Amino acid sequence: MAFIESTWTEPDQPFEIPLRPQTLGDFSGQESVRQRLDIAITAAKSRNDALGHCLFSGPPGLGKTTLAHIISKTMGGNLSVTSGPAIEKAGDLAGLLTNLKKGDVLFIDEIHRLSKVAEEYLYPALEDFVLDLMIDTGANARSVQVKLQPFTLIGATTRSGLLSSPMRSRFSIHLRLDYYDAPTLQKILRRSSSLLEFPIEEKALQLIANRSRGTPRIANNLLRWTRDFAQAHKKESITATLADSALEMLSIDHAGLEEMDKKILSVIMEHHEGGPVGLSNLAAAVGEEPHTLEEVYEPYLILQGFLRRTPRGREVTELAYRHMGKKSPRNME
Ligand code: ADP
Repeated sequence: MAFIESTWTEPDQPFEIPLRPQTLGDFSGQESVRQRLDIAITAAKSRNDALGHCLFSGPPGLGKTTLAHIISKTMGGNLSVTSGPAIEKAGDLAGLLTNLKKGDVLFIDEIHRLSKVAEEYLYPALEDFVLDLMIDTGANARSVQVKLQPFTLIGATTRSGLLSSPMRSRFSIHLRLDYYDAPTLQKILRRSSSLLEFPIEEKALQLIANRSRGTPRIANNLLRWTRDFAQAHKKESITATLADSALEMLSIDHAGLEEMDKKILSVIMEHHEGGPVGLSNLAAAVGEEPHTLEEVYEPYLILQGFLRRTPRGREVTELAYRHMGKKSPRNME
């Protein structure tokens, strides 16, 4: 469906598709998420019912879209994909919803960016599988109720705190995805490298896993880069030394920090004496959107203990000074 395809804000690159796990068994890590989904899916299937609406939250690249694909496949329905900002008018939703068949899945990425009007339009569809459509305008305007097939809404959000509470309460299953540990990323990389059919040493997998910011999407991208690097150097396999040189070229350090992370830390250290500095100031200084800083860069810097969010703004930690090889002004008497 042309409309659905064009509504992606961040289209999955075609090259990512072959690496996407197709079943819950192939989906590594996130044990409790997997277990809860497995139970809910088994129960819904045994009742011959649609799965309850699910809300996935967590940083980008952790597997929210992948789980939506797995759910629709396991439930035997089709998947329609759109995103909050792509739904401009409530009417955009009518087309999507009326096309759904029993057991189909509607995936709305960045659901926290859905407009208020679209949200309110969704509520009866989610609760009673009906839609109130306005027909005609002016004095002739009237609303007709259209029955929908029982479907499953899967909402994904990087900012669950921004979701309105009426919207949140419409989801019966709330699942939070967390960053992956290095051994799990290594397992994901092992599977990916065998799908890519390019031999790689276990030590090289470990090295890539450690620099992937706990994120499978980044791990797979680094693996592909390393494979390209090996091929460009006419190598038949990837050793740890080769992987190290490949990642060196991308300026990714041993903690997984890339150029933008280091820029954020440096700006706070050099121009704001370690902070606090307000988000919009910081975003302007590094040339990024505030919401990208908040959703993509900061969570990992906070997790690694390099950055703190305080009521007065962002501050770097002593650990960040040590990591960047700079002296902290707080330690200078
Ligand atoms: P999100 O929707 O959270 O931004 P995606 O579901 O698009 O993330 O995941 C990005 C890529 O990472 C997928 O294409 C898939 O190859 C890989 N991936 C994500 N989670 C897992 C996992 N648990 N196991 C294996 N691969 C994964």
